[in-house]
Amino acid sequence: MAQVEEKPGVATRTLKNYIGGRWVEAEGSGVIDVTNPANGELLGQVPMSGPSQVDEAARAAREAFPAWRATPPVERARACFELKYLLEEAKDELATLVTRDNGKAIKDASGEVRRGIECVEVATGIPSLMQGSNLEDVSRGIDSDMIRQPIGVFAGITPFNFPFMVPMWFLPFAIACGNTFVLKPSEQDPLASERTFELLDGIGLPAGVVNLVHGGKDSVNALLEHPGVDGVSFVGSTPVAHYIYETSAKHGKRVQALGGAKNHVIVMPDAELKAAVDGVLSSAFHAAGQRCLANSVCIAVGDAYEPLKQALSEKGGEMVVGDGIDPATEVGPVISGASQERILGWIEKGVEEGGELVLDGRGRGSEDGNFIGPTIIGAEPGSQLAQEEIFGPVLTLLRARDLDHALEILNSSTKGNAASIFTTSGGAMRKFRYEAQAGMLGVNIGVAAPMAYFPFTGWKDSFFGDLHAHGRDAIDFYTEKKVVITRWPKT
Ligand code: NAD
Repeated sequence: MAQVEEKPGVATRTLKNYIGGRWVEAEGSGVIDVTNPANGELLGQVPMSGPSQVDEAARAAREAFPAWRATPPVERARACFELKYLLEEAKDELATLVTRDNGKAIKDASGEVRRGIECVEVATGIPSLMQGSNLEDVSRGIDSDMIRQPIGVFAGITPFNFPFMVPMWFLPFAIACGNTFVLKPSEQDPLASERTFELLDGIGLPAGVVNLVHGGKDSVNALLEHPGVDGVSFVGSTPVAHYIYETSAKHGKRVQALGGAKNHVIVMPDAELKAAVDGVLSSAFHAAGQRCLANSVCIAVGDAYEPLKQALSEKGGEMVVGDGIDPATEVGPVISGASQERILGWIEKGVEEGGELVLDGRGRGSEDGNFIGPTIIGAEPGSQLAQEEIFGPVLTLLRARDLDHALEILNSSTKGNAASIFTTSGGAMRKFRYEAQAGMLGVNIGVAAPMAYFPFTGWKDSFFGDLHAHGRDAIDFYTEKKVVITRWPKT
């Protein structure tokens, strides 16, 4: 994907922003091509909106807030039900869009759409979820109530790897709580957000409750600095997440910033080998390894190493690499040519660092797309390959003496999004659950993805903030608590 000037004559269309209930042409500094990563097909051009468009969106959201806040929660829930029905009707279309725009296999895209819809389903429970608490007689004749109130305008800034689901982590919860919302989706694959807003346009929300602004870092900065934006929900890489956290806080905003990952999976010698191999391969290579919950480091404990290495190499080599639109495909392309080059660089670096190329996925898939097949490199825990986020279909295989050693490797990571263990031992599982320094754990599960009614609990440099995405944390994040203490004259 290249930064380009306006291309008159190119047979494509430039995406529009959705502000104050209308689709509007963006003003800013040019456009970026949006392409299908499997074959380079030009899908559209996304505008790089400038501060004036962000200002328009923030103002529209601010104006819509008082009336939306006063809309009874049960009516806001009804809007979420409407959205859910429309999303159900459009689910196959949305999954196809995600595959064409992002590259992931259609099965992964369908799973993503399902997970996104589940967030909307949970947000329909807002009349119960948003209730406060109370106690009579906190002192004689005095009662106390805690109520929750919406805060105002929230911005959502989202990454390329879940172009439908991650916006759904935020938007339904924010508006169900009575806030208004501005979404700035990834500029790399914005089509699912465009379609979602077409559906949102059909559910009769008052103008300005939801707004869509396309763009890159200039639009993000304008949102972070805008005095009319009260809070920011962000998902992306760790350096940007850290920047968003600091800058939002500097401008007095509430912020939750989810960052990058380097997740470990431990395979114990007592694990069921087939289940472990299937779990490790699907976690590491589905969505071409571009998942923040992908296990990208596999630690084989003791005697597990050799049989695991052999099975991973054999089965990983059989995974079908190709255009995600083909239902047989298991590993689609990575998002861009730039990503492909970066990941190929990591494979070379791994080998230069003395790693053993257990499975080489280079050269797999069509040359027209950004393909890299499943790649496995045996390495040392101290290598850069084992420590840095690669975000592609590259699995680093490490050897540990015992569970203590495996946990020492895992816990030395600066990131702590997720971790998994494959074992048949309750004792090993308990030790892992007790000691692993990661926020989402899988036990005989390769991808430890919390359902929408639990929080998405990254730790360390995988998360900056205190209240996480979705689950009850979302209600706390998108509301302010107020405590009222009441005494009436006796009658
Ligand atoms: P990214 O950080 O490049 O971009 C994320 C968003 O930030 C985009 O909307 C982008 O326009 C904006 N952005 C990028 N650079 C910016 C800058 N310098 N200033 C301001 N805004 C900027 O991330 P990505 O490549 O789109 O997504 C992949 C990353 O997201 C990976 O690191 C992955 O681990 C992480 N991720 C984390 C989670 C999680 O739950 N922790 C979930 C999904 C993805």
